[in-house]
Amino acid sequence: MIKQYVDSIRRESQYKRVFRKWLKGEIPDNQLRADQRAYIQKTMKARMKRIKRRFRRQVELHMFLRNITVKPIGRLLRPLPVNWHEDFADGISYPHCPACDELAYQKDHCVFCGRRFSQWDTITGSGK
Ligand SMILES: [Zn+2]
Repeated sequence: MIKQYVDSIRRESQYKRVFRKWLKGEIPDNQLRADQRAYIQKTMKARMKRIKRRFRRQVELHMFLRNITVKPIGRLLRPLPVNWHEDFADGISYPHCPACDELAYQKDHCVFCGRRFSQWDTITGSGK
């Protein structure tokens, strides 16, 4: 009972040592045993999951802060005409926000900075 427990701890510490060496690049992929490879894959998957969760939380916080600060301020500023110019070098002019120069996904306001657009004229393509 106790011996099994000690053995499992010892095996885990060996796996950790192999994992650290693999991270440094001292052990190439083809020299790993199948169980070591499985341990490394499991650990890396868990790490990626943690990193992705942290990144998603940071993005959500950033978007929340932008939605309560940047967009209301942009909404209060005076409306500007839409800026038409090429974006992908395909000869087609796309509407852009005059304030932040991002693509305009809405006809009345910018989804990124909240700036309102004064007019939307697709026939002349000038936005004036
Ligand atoms: Zn904008």
